[in-house]
Amino acid sequence: MSIPDLASLHALGAAQQPTYPDRARLEGAVTTLRTAPPLVFAGECDDLTAKIAAVARGEAFLLQGGDCAETFAGVTAENVRNKLRVLLQMAVVLTYAAKVPVVKIGRLAGQYAKPRSSDLETRDGVTLPAYRGDAVNGYEFTPESRIPDPQRLVDVYNASAATLNLVRAFTTGGYADLRQVSEWNTDFVRSSPVGQRYEALAGEIQSALDFMAAIGADPVEFHKVDFHSSHEALVLEYEHALTRIDSRTELPYNVSGHMVWIGERTRQLDGAHVEYFSHIRNPIGCKLGPSATADDALALAAKLNPANEPGRLTFITRFGAAKVRDGLPQLVEKVTAEGVQVAWVSDPMHGNTFEASTGYKTRRFDDVLDEIRGFFEVHRALGTVPGGMMVEMTGDDVTEIVGGGEEIDEHGLAHRYESVVDPRLNRVQSLELAFHVAEMLRA
Ligand code: PEP
Ligand code: MN
Repeated sequence: MSIPDLASLHALGAAQQPTYPDRARLEGAVTTLRTAPPLVFAGECDDLTAKIAAVARGEAFLLQGGDCAETFAGVTAENVRNKLRVLLQMAVVLTYAAKVPVVKIGRLAGQYAKPRSSDLETRDGVTLPAYRGDAVNGYEFTPESRIPDPQRLVDVYNASAATLNLVRAFTTGGYADLRQVSEWNTDFVRSSPVGQRYEALAGEIQSALDFMAAIGADPVEFHKVDFHSSHEALVLEYEHALTRIDSRTELPYNVSGHMVWIGERTRQLDGAHVEYFSHIRNPIGCKLGPSATADDALALAAKLNPANEPGRLTFITRFGAAKVRDGLPQLVEKVTAEGVQVAWVSDPMHGNTFEASTGYKTRRFDDVLDEIRGFFEVHRALGTVPGGMMVEMTGDDVTEIVGGGEEIDEHGLAHRYESVVDPRLNRVQSLELAFHVAEMLRA
């Protein structure tokens, strides 16, 4: 099995691609990437497929999180560690509540390219090409910076390699020790006025661990965690150059991340992205927003997972809190009735974005929570599995989302708004969300 070449993918019409002014430099970057070592191994991708199959059966819960858009400047030990720490803290709370393994996936080590609703951006009467992520052009609002530069694709590879190296070290080198992670949660509950609401649950987790320690149980699972990388596979040159034939199976894998997903703006059935994804063997996601019909979902599943292989395909639904209860049931119902194997994951972020009176792009914590609640209600009413959630979050104390126990308001957003694209849950909001979802899982 092979994959179509880049030219034939582009011939299908690929949405959301950069217009590179210098084709020769682009070809140079692609050539460099084609010989770069893999960032992940095919066997690791297969392991994740098996775990997502368990998610679809309701035997595991999926937690996927990270920045909307990573930046090259954000590749620091501190930033990666903080993000990872909060994800692990969330995972402990969810594991305890769900009583099943939590499959942990970072939106990291490759999440550098962004689809945009407009090709252009206007500020103070000046119009320039939109920022499309550090993979494509610079955030700085100058004509030079906004020109797509193919060298950035090579920079994405190097930044992702550095990030993944850190993640692998943190998750196997003792930092992710379960007792330590649980201790951080206890600290959060003790020291933060917001956290105090979750004292009972954190106390239960701690006493479960104390009991394990008292009987002398010390399994290897306490000391290291499985962690996977993911990103939206958007820029065809990058994804294609990092697609390799696995020597074991002779099958193509995208070796730039364990899981890759198709965005809401690039899921055209006859488009280049869906075609490309149909050829790779990684576990894949596909976003489905309120405009997706049940027939769209069925057609996507038929094309992306013709063998109906469990764990291969995840539908990531992003309806918005106001639409999820009306829109999601017909999709889930029909897909289920047709016997289509899929894991259902909620993205409670992208259907809930609005512009604050102060000009910032934001979301309400309560809307995020309400969409997840709606997602659980819909699946429980239909007897299907609410498999997990994908969130935009960071380990830092930023102010990008309004509400939550810290009661950030629209004026407070200015205090520390750092995202270059979409607003993220901050450290406290991420933990709060995990405790709320834990209650839904126990209900
Ligand atoms: C995203 O996940 O950052 C994103 C752009 O989502 P969507 O494709 O669902 O709009
Ligand atoms: Mn986003």
